[in-house]
Amino acid sequence: MKFLVLCNHCDNPPCVRACPTKATFKNDDGIVMMDFHRCIGCRFCMAACPYGSRSFNWRDPRGSKDGVPFIKKINHEFPTRMRGVVEKCSFCDLRVKKGLKPLCVEATGDTKAMYFGDLNDPNSEVSQILRERFTIQRKPTLGTKPSVFYII
Ligand code: SF4
Ligand code: SF4
Repeated sequence: MKFLVLCNHCDNPPCVRACPTKATFKNDDGIVMMDFHRCIGCRFCMAACPYGSRSFNWRDPRGSKDGVPFIKKINHEFPTRMRGVVEKCSFCDLRVKKGLKPLCVEATGDTKAMYFGDLNDPNSEVSQILRERFTIQRKPTLGTKPSVFYII
């Protein structure tokens, strides 16, 4: 069996507490975000995340090797990414702001393999699924309160 081990967008995120520059923060939607321009690359957040959900850009993600670009099609709506900063899943917050689903969720189409929504709204589809289905979170005893649930 394969399953995604993306950032849990923890409600009580240790990565946010560890960051000395507030480059990583929780936005109004509860999504744990990165501001690449504030990141100094200290990697405290990587040490603090118990899920290994963050990665460090050892090279320019928009660079190339032997003339072959690392990214074939650059999305210019996404903030400039650079070498020496930490990255992680952002739940495609730019899409969420437009009322779209994260791309991973959209890619599953009608398979119902993934759901995305507002956990604080008791009437949302995701809240209903959490009430009706058996789900687990990763390392729930750590007190990070992951927002990602796996339907069993
Ligand atoms: S999974 Fe890791 S990177 Fe994501 S919010 Fe939780 S502690 Fe932070
Ligand atoms: S690497 Fe960047 S986001 Fe992570 S703790 Fe340091 S400044 Fe904050």
